[in-house]
Amino acid sequence: MLSRALKYLEEKHTCPHCKQELSLCHAPPMHVGDGLGWGSEFLFVCLNDECPLFVKGWKYIEDQYGHVGSYRHMEIPDSNENYNMMVAGHDAFKGSLVDVESMKKQNDRFQKEKKAVAALDTCVEKGDLESVLFLILDEHAKLSDRKRAVTYLVPLNDVSCIEPLRNFSYRDTDLEQAVNMALNKLLAQNFLKECPFCSELIKSRAKVCKHCQKDL
Ligand SMILES: [Zn+2]
Ligand SMILES: [Zn+2]
Repeated sequence: MLSRALKYLEEKHTCPHCKQELSLCHAPPMHVGDGLGWGSEFLFVCLNDECPLFVKGWKYIEDQYGHVGSYRHMEIPDSNENYNMMVAGHDAFKGSLVDVESMKKQNDRFQKEKKAVAALDTCVEKGDLESVLFLILDEHAKLSDRKRAVTYLVPLNDVSCIEPLRNFSYRDTDLEQAVNMALNKLLAQNFLKECPFCSELIKSRAKVCKHCQKDL
């Protein structure tokens, strides 16, 4: 999707009505019953409010159909199809302009997620806590992958995961519970506990916290 958007952004399409360059927009979602849709996730649209097609369209639609609306020139990428598309107001499509920077960010995150999921298979032998934490702490990652990542916390046996995992607010309570159970096991197998006053890790046998000096 990103590579296609980048390719389309390189293309120059001009409006035959006003000669202004068309803008790349995300195609609006089609409702069931509207037919096959646009056949493309992107559309080139003339967003020029001074475009003669758009300016004259209001009166035309009023006269023909008796309601408020106008037309914008639209072209479907990778095809010679173009349409006068009916719009209900000035702002139609202005909110669906393709934002490459945010698409790149989404794509980066997705690539990282894919890499982290692939790394799970060998994370214990490689001591790869990073991939496990990335998935658990990424609310956009697939829940089943995040739950799978939790199962590697105890075998990885690395207490440095405790701090970031405790400080995260989980949207899914099942996941949160699984994390807490894993952390308790991890603490137990390292003969550690968390100080109830300062949350630092201390020996489970300790009677006084070495960090905050409080009696336990
Ligand atoms: Zn135009
Ligand atoms: Zn303490």
